[in-house]
Amino acid sequence: MPNYGPEVVGPPPRPTDQPYWDPEIQTMDPERMRGLQEERLQTLLRKVFDTPVPLFRRKLESAGIGAPEDVKTLDDLRHVPLTVKQDLRDSEAATPPWGDYRFTDPRAAVRIGTSTGTTGQPTISIWTRRDLWIEYESSARVWWRYGHRPGMIATHAHPAYLYGGGAMLSGSYEYFGFLNIWVPPPDTDEAAEQGLRFWMRVKPDIPFMGFSTGRFFEVAAKLGIDPKDAGLEFKGLPGFGLGKGMPLMTAGAECFAYVGGACGKSPGAHINMDWGIVQAVDPATGEEVPEGEWGDLVVTTLDRDNGLLRYDLEEACAILREPCPCGETSIRGLWGGRFKDLIAAQGKRFQANEVESALRKVPEVNEPSLEWQMVRPTDDARPLTVRVERGTGAGGDDAELAGTCAGVIKEALGIDAEVTVLARESIPRSGYKAARVIDE
Ligand SMILES: [Zn+2]
Repeated sequence: MPNYGPEVVGPPPRPTDQPYWDPEIQTMDPERMRGLQEERLQTLLRKVFDTPVPLFRRKLESAGIGAPEDVKTLDDLRHVPLTVKQDLRDSEAATPPWGDYRFTDPRAAVRIGTSTGTTGQPTISIWTRRDLWIEYESSARVWWRYGHRPGMIATHAHPAYLYGGGAMLSGSYEYFGFLNIWVPPPDTDEAAEQGLRFWMRVKPDIPFMGFSTGRFFEVAAKLGIDPKDAGLEFKGLPGFGLGKGMPLMTAGAECFAYVGGACGKSPGAHINMDWGIVQAVDPATGEEVPEGEWGDLVVTTLDRDNGLLRYDLEEACAILREPCPCGETSIRGLWGGRFKDLIAAQGKRFQANEVESALRKVPEVNEPSLEWQMVRPTDDARPLTVRVERGTGAGGDDAELAGTCAGVIKEALGIDAEVTVLARESIPRSGYKAARVIDE
């Protein structure tokens, strides 16, 4: 009987004052890292041909790649065709339920989940213990970089069950050594109250930060709870607001949940290069775009049991290569949003969150939370239709407030908006990601 015990579910402890979770990898010489990536890429390609993995094998053969040795270096990757979400969906539809793109027998996996499926049927993701371990180690580098340490109390309100992200976050928190408080997503006021009351009993060391933070502030105000008593605090994450776009923190649970993390010392997120080749690619040519320019986020996962080869997430990404003063040697990634979320109006292209950032500048619509919606434009010439709820205790009349909101949108985005001010609770609430763009 081999010697094993509870320590196998967690990482070995390390000095809390060391600057990196995994110094060897995080400060590895870039040439050596390239060698490691190429070695792991070979292993992945060998599996595609030997296991085999029919979907990826077909892709390679369609490009005249008949053996793993045909793709020796990272530069050769440009010849490997891209795979998009629709390819996975089609594969699952043709040979349900798994499709023909799995690297392992699904019964070798221990966890299953689906994407949230905002467009089309959600695809199925599976993780073996090794796949989970890679995500947990990747996430640990992120938490450590933030200055968090094992022994702290962390909390979240991610959706559970078939949605893979909640279990992933809980698992990564526990692996790291946080005391993990998982409260229900605040879909209803009752659910939000349950979380708030529990945080008042056991106050998290790390303030709750998530898509639904505003919902908790809103329900706290209704119940007369001081948000601070529940450990709620609007606190920016490191690296946000530096440079263009946001740090590239995730490539989705289906691909690489913790692809990188920001150090806050320079723009972007340090990429976990030992477990993923991250590229900003021009999808028309398959070639990488120049440093700092937007391309499609394309990820090749490394060293997992399951994997994805040149997976194009159809999101905007830029890569930064100049050295970072924090001492980590990885490339850094910026995220510019999902292309399918881009809104076109009045000759401009923008993301809904840019409208949201503009509205955040109007205090009268932000107390206790900002609740708003816009209608997806169908007529390019018409002003953008925006609805926003009046904040509690806000003075002035609706027309005046609407004018202020239209003004900040014009200033930030250069587009005309027709803003309607509504009473509180006119717009549907969501416990996770609220629908800000609606079709009418
Ligand atoms: Zn850095």
